[in-house]
Amino acid sequence: MQIKIDQTKCIGCGTCCALCPDFFDLGDNNKAILKKTETENIGCAREAAEVCPAQCIAIINN
Ligand code: SF4
Repeated sequence: MQIKIDQTKCIGCGTCCALCPDFFDLGDNNKAILKKTETENIGCAREAAEVCPAQCIAIINN
């Protein structure tokens, strides 16, 4: 599975980072960045995608 963030929509709220720090962090521009993009075990990244207020996290099933 792959994870993608549309940084143009990210509002820098930090919810994804708090919920799922293994995958998400905030970059210098206060937009979410990914620590890893490809994973077998999607874990908390799916929850982060569901609660992201800007709906800019995509989980793609390969
Ligand atoms: S939860 Fe969404 S809007 Fe908030 S920092 Fe993460 S990607 Fe950006």
